[in-house]
Amino acid sequence: MSSESVGTVAAFKKERFQNDSYLPTQEIMDLWNQVHGELRNEFGEAVFRSWLKPLTLQAAYHGTLEVSVPTRFMRDWIQSHYAAKILEMCTQRNPDIRRLEIVVVQSAMMADQSQEEAQKPKANQNVNVVAQELQELSSPFDPRFTFDTFVIGKPNALAHAAASRIIESANVPFNPLFIYGGVGLGKTHLMHAIGAAMRQKYPEKRVIYLSAEKFMYQFVKSLRAKDMMSFKEAFRSVDVLMMDDIQFISGKEQTQEEFFHTFNALVDQNKQIVISADKAPSDLLGLEERLRSRLAWGLVADIQPSTYDLRLGILESKRTLLNANIPDAVLEFLALKVTSNIRELEGALNRIVAHADVTKQLITLESTQDVLQDLLRAHDRRITIDEIQRKVAEHYNIRLQDMHSARRARNVARPRQVAMYLAKQLTARSLPEIGRKFGGRDHTTVMHAVRKVEELMVEDTQIAQDVEIIRRALTG
Ligand code: ADP
Ligand code: MG
Repeated sequence: MSSESVGTVAAFKKERFQNDSYLPTQEIMDLWNQVHGELRNEFGEAVFRSWLKPLTLQAAYHGTLEVSVPTRFMRDWIQSHYAAKILEMCTQRNPDIRRLEIVVVQSAMMADQSQEEAQKPKANQNVNVVAQELQELSSPFDPRFTFDTFVIGKPNALAHAAASRIIESANVPFNPLFIYGGVGLGKTHLMHAIGAAMRQKYPEKRVIYLSAEKFMYQFVKSLRAKDMMSFKEAFRSVDVLMMDDIQFISGKEQTQEEFFHTFNALVDQNKQIVISADKAPSDLLGLEERLRSRLAWGLVADIQPSTYDLRLGILESKRTLLNANIPDAVLEFLALKVTSNIRELEGALNRIVAHADVTKQLITLESTQDVLQDLLRAHDRRITIDEIQRKVAEHYNIRLQDMHSARRARNVARPRQVAMYLAKQLTARSLPEIGRKFGGRDHTTVMHAVRKVEELMVEDTQIAQDVEIIRRALTG
């Protein structure tokens, strides 16, 4: 019986132990129990529970200790991460032990569990069940989001080229691919395009795509159901893992920890990972340092805010897809006016097309201006730093001049930082310009304030709420 095969303990023992001398002596059993007990201290509670607890002593022969785990995946993982240390711990107690052999015995874990639990079907030992589970974990790809419908321009050229490389390369060209940029600029579109193209080109590969939010939801669900093994097995068995909007797990420590291990396991196996976020790895403040630095190991590609040319290109491509009769002047007008993001731009186009459909009128520049009145007004309205300072002072009930003063008391310094943050977010002013408006402060002070508030918004829901309320008052 090879160490790869899976069978019951009884069948395994029968073959293995024809020669009774393979059975561990009482002394070896005591030694193993001691070592096993110490693994928790050595590697920590989480690792112990996830990986090392099921280790079961099976045999001892010719200086070899043979221990079993229930799955191949666990065996490989323990082999590469913990086996050397475990052997060392054994050898310290008995120098005759020179080798640790980890074998797969499916029911090793069952034998260790209560009768009732042992009777439950074991999901993680069935490949089909894992595949099915993956299907559930993954979100479907939107058929509209393909490479064909993605318009390339200067702001997204790098991200697009990197995404294409992943499809074209026979192996993993860089790991991970990290795509970042503001909302509605095409990150999700690109990820779906990668996923769909992968599935088409390599139907045998397991490609999963999910949002970081869904990852967290599944993680918590598995924790509650005490079914972490299936969760780990499922994620570690994929060929391509795509996780959208990773900023969502900012401040969620346990989820980050789990993701970090999943990430490492897949990178170790040379599996492709694609991640998106609204910021560069170094700016994801709610993420642990080690995770942030690992995210930047591969290729980091940004998507810049759109340019007029790109917006026009997207509108033209949309016009063709919709097969709608829209004058060039209307597209040019929209490309000029709706600059916030592509999602809004598409929304504006859809609205005028729908309006023309319903009213059975031709689309003209006039009808466009009419239909989009509210949207265009919002875009024409420019928020000023003065307005922001006034609203923030009002909200926190401090004097307006404290926005400019040198006072450092927390009750005025914090609102001032919030105002600087909003100025950066809601206006096109540069950091030095903002600094000047706040009593001639240095641009590094503004930068610090922006980061500080971002950090606080993750940790402190009160601040996050304050910022949201003020933002609404300013933009609504
Ligand atoms: P993000 O995930 O960055 O917030 P999305 O990928 O959801 O943004 O994009 C928002 C909308 O804009 C989608 O409908 C998408 O198809 C469209 N879009 C964004 N960039 C492009 C592009 N370069 N070409 C075509 N459509 C785009
Ligand atoms: Mg998105």
